[in-house]
Amino acid sequence: MSAVTQIPMVERVSELRAALDAARRDGGSVGLVPTMGYLHEGHQSLVTRSASENDLTVVSIFVNPLQFAEGEDYGTYPRDLDRDREMCAAAGAGLIFAPPTEEMYPQTPVTAVTVKGLNALLEGRFRPTHFDGVTTVVAKLFALFGPGRAYFGEKDYQQLAIIRRMTADLSFPVEVVGCPTFREPDGLAMSSRNVYLEPDERPAATVLWRSLQAGREAVVQGSRDPDEVEAVMAAVLAAEPKASPDYATVVDAATLDRPDVLDGELRLLVAAHLGRARLIDNVGVDCDRL
Ligand code: AMP
Repeated sequence: MSAVTQIPMVERVSELRAALDAARRDGGSVGLVPTMGYLHEGHQSLVTRSASENDLTVVSIFVNPLQFAEGEDYGTYPRDLDRDREMCAAAGAGLIFAPPTEEMYPQTPVTAVTVKGLNALLEGRFRPTHFDGVTTVVAKLFALFGPGRAYFGEKDYQQLAIIRRMTADLSFPVEVVGCPTFREPDGLAMSSRNVYLEPDERPAATVLWRSLQAGREAVVQGSRDPDEVEAVMAAVLAAEPKASPDYATVVDAATLDRPDVLDGELRLLVAAHLGRARLIDNVGVDCDRL
């Protein structure tokens, strides 16, 4: 049996800064992969990408209380730091930053970063405080991390768009790199929250991907009416009794606005509850490349 590879893990901001300073001293480039832990192959694909493009890859593992509303799963969010550490090492990370909550928030923050407009669409309609929590913690991570690249998944497409906008508006010296969604063989997007699915709910969870594929196929077949495409997506979701959908929609891939007529690069997005799990997924389609 081969020995498990381990990499250093630090909890303090001062230790993170010292490690980054040391890496940069010789002109080394640094990549950051922000996560909430309970890692899977989707997270690992971000780490692998960063490791191929940077001399040092840091994975942050922090379940950020600011982005959970009352009644959401902050207290029960799955955690397994030992396994995360092995997965980071296997994917080529050089350091884990896993701060306790008091290290990130030594005093209750009264400063927040808000990406207006984008934070209220789609997910924002169901989780109105969520993205302000995300942008506030990512701004903080970027401030701690300094110049480099940061890797985010298209799995959370709206989050990626919001972070790109925040980075541009606030001139963070960080290149935001978006990475494709990693899926189970049956199409279910990998997510730490898939662990909430009961065995009988797991096959039903592919309904998000099936809905997206049906919507994309409608566009490929020539539909340019958003109502029509959304009706196709909604019908697939409605046919799965275990799913209760929050939304199934098609938007402009850049602005996230819902167009009157479908044109150019689009993004189809769905969100649905399955038992205890609330799952989201999305897919792109470019009308100019069909
Ligand atoms: P999380 O730990 O869920 O906050 O995710 C951390 C990062 O991993 C985010 O940038 C996510 O978009 C990304 N991510 C999560 N799931 C996947 C996946 N299935 N494929 C690619 N990236 C993912």
